[in-house]
Amino acid sequence: MKYKSTRGLIKGISFKEAVLMGLADDGGLLIPESIPSITQDDLMALKDKNYQDVAFYIMSKFVGDIDKEVLKRLIDESYKTFDTSKIVPLVDLDDFYLLELFHGPTLAFKDVALQFLGNLFEYVLGEKGENLNIIGATSGDTGSAAIYGVRGKKGVKIFILHPKGRVSKIQELQMTTVLDENVFNLAVDGTFDDCQYIVKEIFSDLDFKRKYSLGSINSINWARVLAQIVYYFYAYLQTKESERLDKINFIVPTGNFGNILAGFYAKMMGLPVNKLVIATNENNILHRFVQYGDYSIKGVVQTYSPSMDIQIASNFERYLFYLYDEDADKVKASMENLRRERFIKFSTEELKKVHQDFDSTTTDNSETLKVINSVYHKKGYILDPHTACGVDGALKLKDKYEEKFICLSTAHPAKFIDAVKKAINKEPVIPDRIQKLFDKEKRVYDMPNDVSVVKKFIEQHV
Ligand SMILES: *Cc1c(COP(=O)(O)O)cnc(C)c1O
Repeated sequence: MKYKSTRGLIKGISFKEAVLMGLADDGGLLIPESIPSITQDDLMALKDKNYQDVAFYIMSKFVGDIDKEVLKRLIDESYKTFDTSKIVPLVDLDDFYLLELFHGPTLAFKDVALQFLGNLFEYVLGEKGENLNIIGATSGDTGSAAIYGVRGKKGVKIFILHPKGRVSKIQELQMTTVLDENVFNLAVDGTFDDCQYIVKEIFSDLDFKRKYSLGSINSINWARVLAQIVYYFYAYLQTKESERLDKINFIVPTGNFGNILAGFYAKMMGLPVNKLVIATNENNILHRFVQYGDYSIKGVVQTYSPSMDIQIASNFERYLFYLYDEDADKVKASMENLRRERFIKFSTEELKKVHQDFDSTTTDNSETLKVINSVYHKKGYILDPHTACGVDGALKLKDKYEEKFICLSTAHPAKFIDAVKKAINKEPVIPDRIQKLFDKEKRVYDMPNDVSVVKKFIEQHV
């Protein structure tokens, strides 16, 4: 499989090149040159396979330049860190299924992709004899999953900036108790926006960037999307045959459009999906897009589901490419319009095409708490506030579709104790993995809100 850019100027690059390039050099996003198909017979042949085998089967179709044995080993290594043999177990709550994606080391779905990406980076860099220094800013979740993805990996160092005292206690512990020599936590005296500004400034110094081989680990890397395609297949394979009807619906708590995009690839490949439902919180640009063709950027509001408090869905461009019938010039024009005017307008024809694959819902803060409460009382199951947006959406759409819903559960409730406590008046059970962090040694470097000081720190530690 070769890769090309959504903006048309990059073509014919290999999987490994695409992984190292991250963002395409023409400013677009990298996508496979064709979509491999999987038939119903192929699917049935996967029925009794474990997660790692399904991952190997799916990923092999997209990876042309890594030895099969090596790919198998990278996959096996990546999912050893999960605390259940099913990796992503499907839980049947009668009205809907939950796909628990939070069994990795930081208890959020980003582990599924970042555990794999860390191993992949180590392998590809080792082969080329190169180094990579990852710089990133986090408001909590992505930073810890990225740190756990690359801790102890050869050839990679990671510098993660977080706003000092402004991430949750558990998120802070998850980051700062990682003592591997290649991990640097920088607590910046400022806000998350200040952290992001510093990172942007560092990356815009191209000499500095090249001299110190800086890279990022954000959600636009193709390997992250690829690792996420796998669990849509594995979820389907775990459903009861009698309940499958012809097809199933997925509902996905969405921010960057990364997770649900993987579902779109699974659907294009032939997984029998009726609708992919985008579940948003009050930051509902993607809901307005699906319902009214109105993709216009508004201010970000804070909600109980902070990892979805996003207005610029960085993976959306990949979907646009398919919506525009692979017209790279049109993608480029639309993205430029978005940057200038802060909106993209869609025609009725285009919306019709969107509705063949997608539906959407939006859930406000009070509905989030309400659904956590009602599912707890009816089923004895505690949802995290991100997953709650998905479940709320599934319940709202229950009468519109015959097909059963699989709701992707993106975080363990213990990561968001405050919201859960507000909803059900008690704390979720804190898993061992988190409990243990409270007694661990920490390492963190305090930084002033100053680009030059952070740059100097990086120079001294790469
Ligand atoms: C990142 C994240 C999301 C949103 O995923 P996208 O791929 O950005 O759509 C949802 N829930 C949790 C818990 C997350 O960490």
